[in-house]
Amino acid sequence: MARYTDASCRLCRRESQKLFLKGERCYSTKCALEKRNFPPGQHGLSRKKTSDYGLQLREKQKAKRFYGILETQFRNTFDKAARKKGITGDNLLIMLETRMDNVVFRMGFASSRKEARQLVTHGHFLVNGKKLDIPSAEVKPGSVVKVKEKSQSSPKFKEIKDMSISVPAWISVDPEKLEGKVLALPRREEIDTPVSEHLIVELYSK
Ligand code: SF4
Repeated sequence: MARYTDASCRLCRRESQKLFLKGERCYSTKCALEKRNFPPGQHGLSRKKTSDYGLQLREKQKAKRFYGILETQFRNTFDKAARKKGITGDNLLIMLETRMDNVVFRMGFASSRKEARQLVTHGHFLVNGKKLDIPSAEVKPGSVVKVKEKSQSSPKFKEIKDMSISVPAWISVDPEKLEGKVLALPRREEIDTPVSEHLIVELYSK
């Protein structure tokens, strides 16, 4: 599957917002946005006012980049969200949050969603005792995500055992056991993704 492989920090600069794509670096003074908080490129500093359509487009791009998803998969997720009961924008964010790669990231088993995706693809996790290596898979409430026994001795996961991990209210985690549980579906107010999802709904509803 195609993936965006250009410098991640350019994406944050384009959105003028931290998208936390590079793990620990994002929380340090090395973050590119701390030094150059303007869009990349020759005309980065001289961009004009954005139209309504431009704002909607930017919001959609930001959400895609935040979760590391390409257009087709994002659109498919939106279509499914629109078919569900309730508010489409809320449904969309809940579906994005409960993707396997995001859940692994939220549980603190990876420093970025990109790393989480890689760890999932490499088969390091069990969900309810069964191997799950599909980053886009939905993790349902009540599911237990655990680092595979064989992977637990790797330096990456050994390090996590001694960490104190802060997780959102809809997740619990036991770093010692390298195990976490999805307690419930997240509520909109529990999702800190910096997007205005109503603009994405407006864009796709045209
Ligand atoms: Fe974005 Fe992280 Fe790069 Fe900062 S360091 S610009 S938050 S990817």
